[in-house]
Amino acid sequence: MSNAHPAQNRYKADLREMRFLLFEQFHLGEILSQAPFEAWGPDEVNMVLDESYKFCCEVLGPLNAVGDRVGCRLEDGAVKTPPGFKEAWGKLYEAGWKTLSVSPDHGGQGAPHSLTAIVEEFLSGANAAFNMYPGLAFGAAELIEHFGTPEQQAVFLGPMASGTWGGTMCLTEPHAGSDVGASSTTATKQADGRYLIRGTKIFISGGDHDLADNIVHLALARVENAPPGTKGLSLFIIPKLRINADGTLGERNDVNVGSIEHKMGINGSSTCVLNFGESDGCLGELVGTVENQGMPQMFRMMNGARISVGVQGVAVASTAYLNALDYAKDRKQGPNYTQWKDPTAPRVSIIQHPDVRRMLLDMKARVEGIRALVVKLARHQDAVRVFQGKDDAKASYHQGQVDLLVPLVKAYGSDQSFRVCETAIQVYGGAGYTKDYPVEQYCRDSKIFSIYEGTNHIQAMDLVGRKLGQAGGKNLQAFLGDIAGFCKANEKHAILGPLVKELEGAHEALGGSAMRLLSWSHQGKASLIPLAANRFLEMMSEVAVAWLLLEGAKIALEKAATLPEGDAGAKDRAFYEGKRQAAAYFARSVLPKVKLDAEILGREDTSPVDISDEAFASV
Ligand SMILES: Cc1cc2nc3c(=O)[nH]c(=O)nc-3n(C[C@H](O)[C@H](O)[C@H](O)COP(=O)(O)OP(=O)(O)OC[C@H]3O[C@@H](n4cnc5c(N)ncnc54)[C@H](O)[C@@H]3O)c2cc1C
Repeated sequence: MSNAHPAQNRYKADLREMRFLLFEQFHLGEILSQAPFEAWGPDEVNMVLDESYKFCCEVLGPLNAVGDRVGCRLEDGAVKTPPGFKEAWGKLYEAGWKTLSVSPDHGGQGAPHSLTAIVEEFLSGANAAFNMYPGLAFGAAELIEHFGTPEQQAVFLGPMASGTWGGTMCLTEPHAGSDVGASSTTATKQADGRYLIRGTKIFISGGDHDLADNIVHLALARVENAPPGTKGLSLFIIPKLRINADGTLGERNDVNVGSIEHKMGINGSSTCVLNFGESDGCLGELVGTVENQGMPQMFRMMNGARISVGVQGVAVASTAYLNALDYAKDRKQGPNYTQWKDPTAPRVSIIQHPDVRRMLLDMKARVEGIRALVVKLARHQDAVRVFQGKDDAKASYHQGQVDLLVPLVKAYGSDQSFRVCETAIQVYGGAGYTKDYPVEQYCRDSKIFSIYEGTNHIQAMDLVGRKLGQAGGKNLQAFLGDIAGFCKANEKHAILGPLVKELEGAHEALGGSAMRLLSWSHQGKASLIPLAANRFLEMMSEVAVAWLLLEGAKIALEKAATLPEGDAGAKDRAFYEGKRQAAAYFARSVLPKVKLDAEILGREDTSPVDISDEAFASV
């Protein structure tokens, strides 16, 4: 437990929990071995869980602290990634973990999203910085798959799926962060149909690296006479090395790394300033054939990217929790609290102290609840694929739930990640603040999740401004209806009944707050909405998490009752007890806050906008 060598794996995941979610709570078995998942049965799913976890512990985990300590270097205009990253990249693509959900038509395995979400959790939990590179490449390839011309698909998809080429997403500019519409990178059409690109993008993840033979940048730029704002943005494919007609790599394109950022965390991921067309020689091609489609194209892909960030959040939080749990069992300090006045009482492991147990259960409940939300969302995505073209009403219900849950997974998953990591440091005490243990890195790494891919306020505004009213409010009604159905069916449950009552109360408060938000728009009080949006997103997430934890607890109780007595059932009995206690803790100690939040929201506090700029401080 002491000072670990940086190249040691510290990643941990609980595979029993993953199997519970997939098979016992979300019934993945119901959609396996049939279209479109003909090739996937329970054995294949279990094999992927075991092998991908093993891969993450053996290959990516040992590079996590190394990536953090060594970081990326810019040498002669090229980025050098930390030692071991290039070999790991090769092994990752050889193993096929990055192409699990890719369609078999493009060299993938067509796995269910529910499974891919768990494998992605392993990859990011073992090494969040490393997994940025293939993550961005995957996102860029998916975009070309959806919107590229057949010629573009033929040229780019194969090499990007095999890891021969990487990829990036270039939106941000110095004056255009959240305000993407302010982008000023330009694209000038050439006689041959290609475009000359000029501009500077900042904060580009994987903007340069030495992992792949080429990097395919997807960048937003504005063609001449395009409308202002987001409506006038087009998306361009800009390879680092030009591609010859026969598909081989040609000369260098005019894309250069200006600098790399020195950051708080994810130091193994290069974050670059990219200069396009400094020498007027940057050639790109439009994605598809129609200009000014950049934002709708990006939007189509944003769901996936935002879910991935939520997964990063739960991934890092989970390994922080499991490491803290290990430490708490090992570290001895002080007597049992019932003997605190007795200096001769034996010292106990810190896990015996009530406050440490409280922190551990708090982390467990949040991690498992958010993971359940991630898998719930992924299960909706799988259902869309199952019902598409067969039962439109069901497909549209599931797609509506995907749309509604994305901002919750992204924003709540990332906010809570940082908080769980911070709690993990607290469990360790001073040791957690040192680099001898992994939790300080987890905490630094996790902070970015609430910032990129749209800050969490952008997610909250997406939820209250777009998603609540989407489909005439039907998606929200269906979500609230699903929870109401669970409450009604279980309010008299012998053990969980009182906890379900808590959920009922929070559900009612949430519904009332949703109505209040919608009514503000009609009452000329729309300026209150941004002040309340983050709070509302948190309320809705906590209701969703409590619902899924209680649903899991109900299943756990049923399963526990069927276990054999004695040692044979002991491990499963403890596991199921953990599900029940996590749900009980969340319902009793976190959920009541939702009602208070609803009350606060109703106070219509405008002090943050009433205060003058000068009044914030006199300096
Ligand atoms: C490590 C790292 C990796 C990144 N990777 C990529 C990448 O690969 N590709 C890419 O394109 N970008 C990338 N980014 C950029 C990232 O997406 C932006 O940092 C993010 O979108 C926020 O933009 P900003 O930093 O300019 O902050 P700002 O937009 O200046 O926001 C600052 C604060 O103001 C708030 N704010 C801004 N506008 C509004 C508004 N209208 N209403 C209310 N509040 C507002 C924000 O919520 C935030 O709290 C990365 C950033 C980092 C740090």
